[in-house]
Amino acid sequence: MAGTSTVSGGLVDLSDEQKEIVAAVRDFVETEVIPVADELEHKDEYPEKIVEQMKEMGLFGLTAPEEYGGAGLDLMTYALVGVELSRGWMSLSGIMNTHFMAIYLLKKYGTDEQKQKWLSRMATGELRAALSMSEPGAGSDVQGITCRAVRDGDEYVVNGTKMWVTNGLRAGLVVLLCKTDPSADPPHKGMSVLYVEKEPGASKDGGITIPPNIEKMGYHGVETTELVFEDHRVPAANLLGDEGDGFRQIMDGIEVGRVNVSARAVGLATRAFEEAIRYAQERKAFGKPIAQHQMIQEKLAEMGTKLEAARLMMLQAAKKKSAGERSDLEAGMAKFFCTEACHEIVTEALRVHGGYGYSKEYTIERLYRDAPFLLIGEGTSEIQKIVIARQLLERYKAT
Ligand SMILES: Cc1cc2nc3c(=O)[nH]c(=O)nc-3n(C[C@H](O)[C@H](O)[C@H](O)COP(=O)(O)OP(=O)(O)OC[C@H]3O[C@@H](n4cnc5c(N)ncnc54)[C@H](O)[C@@H]3O)c2cc1C
Repeated sequence: MAGTSTVSGGLVDLSDEQKEIVAAVRDFVETEVIPVADELEHKDEYPEKIVEQMKEMGLFGLTAPEEYGGAGLDLMTYALVGVELSRGWMSLSGIMNTHFMAIYLLKKYGTDEQKQKWLSRMATGELRAALSMSEPGAGSDVQGITCRAVRDGDEYVVNGTKMWVTNGLRAGLVVLLCKTDPSADPPHKGMSVLYVEKEPGASKDGGITIPPNIEKMGYHGVETTELVFEDHRVPAANLLGDEGDGFRQIMDGIEVGRVNVSARAVGLATRAFEEAIRYAQERKAFGKPIAQHQMIQEKLAEMGTKLEAARLMMLQAAKKKSAGERSDLEAGMAKFFCTEACHEIVTEALRVHGGYGYSKEYTIERLYRDAPFLLIGEGTSEIQKIVIARQLLERYKAT
C-alpha cells in the first residue's frame, strides 16, 4: 500500500541520494510513526522521541548548505519528505515547515554573519525556528499587522501581539514580521523581518511572554501559541536585509510554505485513500465487500484521480520553487487545488468507513480533523484564488 506514495509522475528525476532519503523516511514512517501517531494525537502530546529521531536522520538540515553541516538538497526533496511524513502524521511536517522557511530566507537574504550565527545549529535541529506573521487582528491582511519595532541605537524595541505561531514555544529563533515604519505608503514598504532569538521551551524570556498552547480541533502534537512582545530588545544586526524589505521577503518565503502545505495535503490524502481502499475490500454489506458496490467504486475512482492530479500539481510547484524562481502562480494553484482535493478525499474516505469513520478507533477520524487546517494555513483558499487570478490577469493582459 505504501507504493501509492511513490509516484512522481515522471515529472522529476530524482538523484540516488534523493531516492535514498525519501525511501528512508518512508521506512521510518512505517516503523516509528504510524504505530504511535493516533495515540499521540489523541493525547495532544508533543512527539519528543520522533523529533529526536528526525534530527538524527538529518531531516532538519535537508536544505541547509553543506558548508554549514546540512545536506544541501533542494525544495523538491523537502516536499517529497513532507509527503511521506504527512502520510504518517501531518503534525510532523508542521514541526519542520517554519524551520525550512527560516532557512530559505536566511540563505537568500541573510548576511554571512547571520548565516554563521544560526545555520549550523539549524542544520542539526538543535536550534529550531518559528515564523510569525499573523496577529489577533490580521491574518489574510498581512499588511494590516501592528507589531512595531523601533530602532534604538544598535537595537530594535519590539511591542505587539502575534497569533497562531506554530512551534512558538519550542523554537529558539522566531522569524518576526513587524512594522518599522507604520506610516509608510503603501504599508508594505514599512514592513521588516527580524530574527528574534529566545530560550526554547520558556514561556517567559526578556520581553517575550508565551501564553498556554491554543487548543485546536486537530493538528495536535505541534504547539500553536501567541507571542506577546513588551519592550523586547533585539539586536539591529538581526534585521534581514534592509528595513522595508520584509513583506517581499515573507511573500517569497511563503511560497516555500505553500509547496509544503501542498505536499502535506498529498501525504494526508494518500493515507486517507489507502485507509478507504483497504476498508472497502474488508467490510461486507449485502453479501459482498463494499468495494464491489458501484457507488463505492465511483468514490474510489474519484478519490484516486484527484489524488494523482494533486500530486502532479505539487511536484510542478516544488520543481519551480526548487529552481529558485518566484512561483506565486504555481505555488498558489498547487496550494489551492491540493488542499481542497485533500479535504474532499478525506471526507469521502470517512463516508466509505460508514459509522466506524466517526470512531476514534479508526485513523480516518484523525485525518478528518487534520485536513481543514490545510485550507487555512499559509493563506486561505480564498486568498489563493486572489493570488492566482492576479497572476493570470497579468499573464493574459488585454492589449
Ligand atoms: C493551526 C494554525 C497554525 C498557524 N500557524 C501560523 C504560523 O506559524 N505563523 C503565522 O504567521 N500564521 C499562522 N497561522 C495563521 C494563518 O496563516 C491565518 O489563520 C490565515 O492566514 C487566515 O487568517 P485569519 O485567521 O486572520 O482569517 P481572516 O483573514 O480574518 O479571514 C477570515 C475569512 O475571510 C476570508 N477573507 C479574508 N480576506 C478576504 C478577501 N480579500 N477576499 C475574500 N475573502 C477574504 C478568508 O479567506 C477567511 O475565509 C496559523 C493558523 C492556524 C489555524
